[in-house]
Amino acid sequence: MTTSMKLRWNNGIEVSDGSSLIMDPKRTLQGVPALITHAHSDHVPRDVRKPKSELITTPITGNALKSVFRAPEELLTISSFGKELEVGNLRVTPFIAGHVPGSAMFLLEKGDLRVLYTGDVNPRGGLAVEGPADVPEADVLIIESTYGNPKFRFPDQDLVRAKIVEWVLSVVSEGSIPVFSVYPLGKAQEVIALLNKTTNLRVLVTEDVARMSAACQPAFKLKYEKLQEVQDPKVAVIKGPCSGVPLEGKLAIATGWALILKPKRVHRAFPLSSHADFDGLLEIVKRSRAKEVYTVFGFSYDFTSYLKMKLSVKAAPLGRNWVYL
Ligand SMILES: [Zn+2]
Repeated sequence: MTTSMKLRWNNGIEVSDGSSLIMDPKRTLQGVPALITHAHSDHVPRDVRKPKSELITTPITGNALKSVFRAPEELLTISSFGKELEVGNLRVTPFIAGHVPGSAMFLLEKGDLRVLYTGDVNPRGGLAVEGPADVPEADVLIIESTYGNPKFRFPDQDLVRAKIVEWVLSVVSEGSIPVFSVYPLGKAQEVIALLNKTTNLRVLVTEDVARMSAACQPAFKLKYEKLQEVQDPKVAVIKGPCSGVPLEGKLAIATGWALILKPKRVHRAFPLSSHADFDGLLEIVKRSRAKEVYTVFGFSYDFTSYLKMKLSVKAAPLGRNWVYL
């Protein structure tokens, strides 16, 4: 195996092999290409409007960076899933991550060394993503560990979807309005797709959700309208958590965190997640066949402890010290 690559967590996942690149940086660096896995704001550089380097991502994430985050088009390099790009000395290929529309994992290759960074990932996929995570084999895996603790085992997600539909229809039959407060990217499109597929209700969305959903079209052909005034009672409303639009109706959230919390003002909290749960993360590690695993985000220590004990792989949270491969 080649041993000329090193990586660490510093402002993002920094990779150096003579040339450099950074993945999901907090801020871009002069002359260092940035790979962006998806358009959730915690994975988008804060200086995205005036980045110091090119931003490499997939078509849908590129749309969102341009139309929602105002990234300059001339600094976007777009690569489709499965298409290999040369970035410095590395070969970089995006794979479907299954987390939100456009979300990618990146496989970095140099010689015979293969390093996979998952970004946020979901091996189950959903109704408004390109598919479940398409995990390639790698020597080294850098994996998110948002739910990397065994207390996070989600119920069957189709059953959760069925309960959401049941709740929506019961609220409408009472003459009230079901209102979902969800992330504008990912969960919003998932709930829109679910209601499109299973009900005849009009789906009304707030401005933030409309902007993100437009960036995801035409890939998912979602049917929704911008929220103006709710007069027709046979509607469902999808709003972003920060949207200040005053609304009558019954409020629901849909998130993996519903396993452990339910805010007081919320009528229902559904454990529908766009992330891998604990077992899903284990599945991804096994499918990658990686012998060396580094974790980022969430329960990174819990997950690596478990991996070392149960799978006998080398595992550690990715920190500020360089790891030499
Ligand atoms: Zn995310």
